[in-house]
Amino acid sequence: MTVLIAGGGIGGLALALSLHQIGVKCRVFESVKEIKPLGVGINVLPHACRELIELGLQEELERTSIRTSELAYFSKHGKRIWTEPRGIDAGYKWPQYSIHRGELQFILLRAAIERLGAENIVTGHHVSRWEETANGVRAHFTDKDGKAVGSEEGSLLIACDGIHSTIRSKLFPDEGPPIWSRRILWRGVTVAKPFMTGSSMIMAGYPQVKFVAYPISKPDQNGMQMINWIAEREFEETYEWRREDYNRAAKLEEFAPLFEHWNFGWLDVPGLIRDAEYCFEYPLVDRDPRERWSYGRVTLLGDAAHPMYPIGSNGSSQAILDARVLAREIQDKGETIAALDAYEAERRPATSQLVLLNRGNGPERVMEMVEQRAPNGFNVVTEVLSQQELEEVANNYKKVAGFQVEALNARPSIVQPKMAMVK
Ligand SMILES: Cc1cc2nc3c(=O)[nH]c(=O)nc-3n(C[C@H](O)[C@H](O)[C@H](O)COP(=O)(O)OP(=O)(O)OC[C@H]3O[C@@H](n4cnc5c(N)ncnc54)[C@H](O)[C@@H]3O)c2cc1C
Repeated sequence: MTVLIAGGGIGGLALALSLHQIGVKCRVFESVKEIKPLGVGINVLPHACRELIELGLQEELERTSIRTSELAYFSKHGKRIWTEPRGIDAGYKWPQYSIHRGELQFILLRAAIERLGAENIVTGHHVSRWEETANGVRAHFTDKDGKAVGSEEGSLLIACDGIHSTIRSKLFPDEGPPIWSRRILWRGVTVAKPFMTGSSMIMAGYPQVKFVAYPISKPDQNGMQMINWIAEREFEETYEWRREDYNRAAKLEEFAPLFEHWNFGWLDVPGLIRDAEYCFEYPLVDRDPRERWSYGRVTLLGDAAHPMYPIGSNGSSQAILDARVLAREIQDKGETIAALDAYEAERRPATSQLVLLNRGNGPERVMEMVEQRAPNGFNVVTEVLSQQELEEVANNYKKVAGFQVEALNARPSIVQPKMAMVK
């Protein structure tokens, strides 16, 4: 039979490629009629880059992304709190990639079309409901106007349908919308001169007023890079925030004044905001971890399973890891309920812990601690935070998110590819 995948985003396409790699037939059903390279920048951590490389995608990734070499935290005055090497520079066998989300999705999409055949990536098919059958599960589809456009029977139905997952909403009808953190993100891209190493990711400020920047393209002939940035601000609970929508254009005047004095010399924050090519507004939201993901022949994956704050660069990385573990369990146990249960037993506890850690600002907690202890600034950061505290925060996050360098370098591959591929 065929594994039915709802959603052609990062998680759904990574799953399709992984199933193809082990010789399991699958079809992707995507709501939108035409997949477009939407979004802004995204970071893929070494544990997920390893999986993409083991899917044979390194060449394409190298062409379009930046190998992130360091991550640095700064105070709101632009003073350095903590720097750590990243990717290969940190001793991993695999890089960390900073890339435009649309580029990443299209690398996966092109590979999926080439390997599975275009007929198995079905667009304009929104999974609206499903029912179990004698041998599997039948998914029903609608188009954008809600008109029925057919159904298909498969062995399993995997919900990779993102933060607004229809399948999750039917499994948990009382859950309601995502939970707002009282913070709004403005995500933009600006063509600008490289800063620091040209492959550095930086964060400045503290959770209530924060700025993140990292390059997502190699320098062009004029030496300019596409710099992805995120400005973030906390609001009162009563603020009338707008529902999350990845395509909502932002108004620069709503947040630019907050950052007008943030020209640190090594990074011109007001300049980046002013010269943005485009910018989107997005509320910082997540959902409570669930006590269960799998119901019969249906399970959740990626943002449908564990939407989390984009703190610590884990959204797409964890979706990719879900896909690989699920493929491994299907290879081991067949297209069975037992495979879904084994997948859930590994991935649900790990990602639930991460959702909660991100609510406490994950590795960015050091910026919060500095602001609380020294709101007027500091001379040397160790006057405010000990080296041990800094290291503890960084190491604990890597442990929970599953990318400690020695452990990752030593662990065997998740998926053992089968040589004979089926189309
Ligand atoms: C348009 C868009 C832009 C984004 N931009 C960014 C960004 O700039 N930075 C960032 O960090 N993250 C971004 N994200 C989120 C990021 O892709 C995810 O957090 C992460 O990669 C996990 O991937 P996912 O596959 O679980 O979800 P997603 O990548 O969100 O993919 C879900 C897919 O499912 C489809 N879908 C939804 N409902 C159904 C249904 N019922 N049936 C069939 N298909 C369905 C959606 O159209 C989408 O293609 C964006 C997501 C989207 C959809």
